[in-house]
Amino acid sequence: MQPLRGTKDILPTDTEMWQNIYDTARNVLNKYNYKEIRTPILESTDLFEKCIGNFTDIVNKEMYNFKDQSERRITLRPEGTSSIARAVLSNKLYLNNQMHRLWYSGPMFRYERPQQGRQRQFHQLGIECIGSLKPIADIEVIQLAHKILTQLRCKEQCTLELNSIGNIQERDLYTKQLITYLKKYEKDLDEDSQKRINKNPLRILDSKIDKTQEILKDGPILQNYLGIESLKHFEQICQSLDYLNIKYNINNYLVRGLDYYNYTAFEIKTKSSSHQNTLCGGGRYDNLIEQLGGPKIPAVGWAIGLERLIILMKERLNTETIHKTIYIATEDLNNIEIIWDIINILETYNLKFELDITNINLSKKIRKASKIGVKTCIILRNEEIKKRQIYIKWLDTGKQQMINFSNLRQYIYYLKTIL
Ligand code: ATP
Ligand code: MG
Repeated sequence: MQPLRGTKDILPTDTEMWQNIYDTARNVLNKYNYKEIRTPILESTDLFEKCIGNFTDIVNKEMYNFKDQSERRITLRPEGTSSIARAVLSNKLYLNNQMHRLWYSGPMFRYERPQQGRQRQFHQLGIECIGSLKPIADIEVIQLAHKILTQLRCKEQCTLELNSIGNIQERDLYTKQLITYLKKYEKDLDEDSQKRINKNPLRILDSKIDKTQEILKDGPILQNYLGIESLKHFEQICQSLDYLNIKYNINNYLVRGLDYYNYTAFEIKTKSSSHQNTLCGGGRYDNLIEQLGGPKIPAVGWAIGLERLIILMKERLNTETIHKTIYIATEDLNNIEIIWDIINILETYNLKFELDITNINLSKKIRKASKIGVKTCIILRNEEIKKRQIYIKWLDTGKQQMINFSNLRQYIYYLKTIL
């Protein structure tokens, strides 16, 4: 028996990592007074149609819909924000308090083609800051994502992309111009984008197809259609991020897959070349709660895909281990005395090492070490061994250093302190 396609067991080998993520996030979010909210996994299909929008991939293609025994249209939630907006209304949370800082985590469901970083049941951790129009709320939530990723030591592998998608009027105006422009090149667009021209043209902006991106380069740019309010909001966010020393790139083509966003849209991407490189997606949604029939309550939030975060953390752990490994590449494996002397010293200092015992020549061994990401390589050439010398090569910089046998122990001790 296999699990359903696109679903996975999380085995005890991995649960510690999951718990570490939850503990770290809870710790950070607690300090900022974010409170956990748990909403049902089942919701009425209506909710997502209203919130996410009928012309989006999620609603069109990806939802797990079914009818229950009373013929109600039910959906396994594909994301968290819609449910939270509903919960704010159902529980009249807005009556007592204008501000709600909430976080959630749990499984989400989307019928997509399973691949690395894309599952049909996956998990998100998300936060919503509900009740403030001010840019400082946007900054707070972005900063929290940044803090969590920093504490999980993933910051270096991530980049923050930011855009302002304006308000509905500004976006409508821009969308009209975009459609006029794209119609001229309709034939050259990829098939998906052709379908989107009339239904959801903004989504064409984040098409991954090169030809389509080429065409967009000369097209109208959303930023040029933003009014003073939108620009001011965006500018303040950028200034604060500068002040907080959080790096970002402005990406004019960043729109989010969901209809409910306005003003700020952002994504945190990993530097991996995989198409599934968006770790966190978020933005401001000032109209969503009103759209559901409630009062106008502005909000901003994000969601992190936890499977993708785990992939990243595992990659980092692997790289860290490889970076700490000392590779021993020999011209001749028969130089057993010096080989064992080196290994003995490495062992004394508790250093991780790998002696290459394959039959390939020395330069191939060094190339192999470099390829797998090793930084430090001890090189044993016959010529030099005769002179009681060896070389240490730093494979990341290409620099090398000659060591006399008599200094070997001292040098390896030095390695221990820098690795
Ligand atoms: P993508 O462009 O990768 O499909 P998305 O825009 O559909 O992402 P969001 O709806 O913004 O994603 O969800 C937020 C995050 O949830 C994503 O950045 C990603 O990390 C994660 N996520 C979304 N769909 C999946 C999935 N099918 N499997 C695993 N993680 C997912
Ligand atoms: Mg998607």
